[in-house]
Amino acid sequence: MSTLLPTSIVGSLPKPSWLSEPETLWSPWRLEGAELDEGRRDALHLAAAEQAVAGLEVISDGEQTRQHFVTTFIEHLSGVDFARRETVRIRDRYDASVPTVVGPVRRERPVFVDDAASLRTRTDKPLKWALPGPMTMIDTLYDAHYGSREELAREFAALLNQEARELEAAGVDIIQFDEPAFNVFFYDVRDWGVEVLERAAEGLRAETVVHICYGYGIKANNDWKASLGTQWRQYEETFPLLRDSVIDTVSLESRGSHVPMELVELLRGKKVMLGAIDVADPQVETPEEVADTLRRALAFVEPENLCPSTNCGMAPLSRTVAQGKMRALAAGTALLRAELARG
Ligand SMILES: [Zn+2]
Repeated sequence: MSTLLPTSIVGSLPKPSWLSEPETLWSPWRLEGAELDEGRRDALHLAAAEQAVAGLEVISDGEQTRQHFVTTFIEHLSGVDFARRETVRIRDRYDASVPTVVGPVRRERPVFVDDAASLRTRTDKPLKWALPGPMTMIDTLYDAHYGSREELAREFAALLNQEARELEAAGVDIIQFDEPAFNVFFYDVRDWGVEVLERAAEGLRAETVVHICYGYGIKANNDWKASLGTQWRQYEETFPLLRDSVIDTVSLESRGSHVPMELVELLRGKKVMLGAIDVADPQVETPEEVADTLRRALAFVEPENLCPSTNCGMAPLSRTVAQGKMRALAAGTALLRAELARG
């Protein structure tokens, strides 16, 4: 990418109220059939336009065509029975009723490829598309077939790789894998998680990102964060492994978190998507606050490797707040760019 400090959102944006209930996760659609298809596509184009107007360099789908970042992908697979529900503990944090893996998992059809091709016709800017990571996928299911977390994750990695290759062919420049589970299951990450993630990214010419976060600003996550003490050092376990991986970019939280900035040093040589926007706080950051967060990171990452971003998805926020936060991200980054240009 030619621009220094290319900005992007991590994932979701709030959906328009005519498409689904705002400020809610897993919000049901308000349209159906052909109207839903058209509505989702319109929202996708609108989200892209709003990112461009805000001044972001990299355009994402804002997850406008999916109900949830993990569930929607799984809905397109066979081998998973959505009628057979079991209660599991998600990321060791909260209980949820989830579908059951009842047989071999297969991707029956492309999931987001048509959406990506459609978005490609709407912008000349680089496109980034997020997919769930294999470990995060297995964490939102009950497995009654494979009997091995690792084996199921490997199956999912192969399916994600099929989807990623087709997204790339449709014109997507950057493929992002969302792996919040990497902040919880450290032994699995070490033993097979990074290797399985690399399998999902195998053979891609597109840039690859892994996004690891402390989750949306919902109560279960906020309570968990409150229990983590004054220094959040979870990244310390995974960053050295990811630095040695084939993944190009690591996306992390910073603004409003207790992540010590010096942990970014553990990624030296990699690109870093640094969260300079707090998605758990409806207060819109000032450009100066954004620039300050990014400036502090520059002690640990080369400017050409720094990609300013949000901490996580913004689906639970109001549209006005999300738009304000995107503008703040662009404006704060512009301040820092000007500073760097002055030397
Ligand atoms: Zn996230």
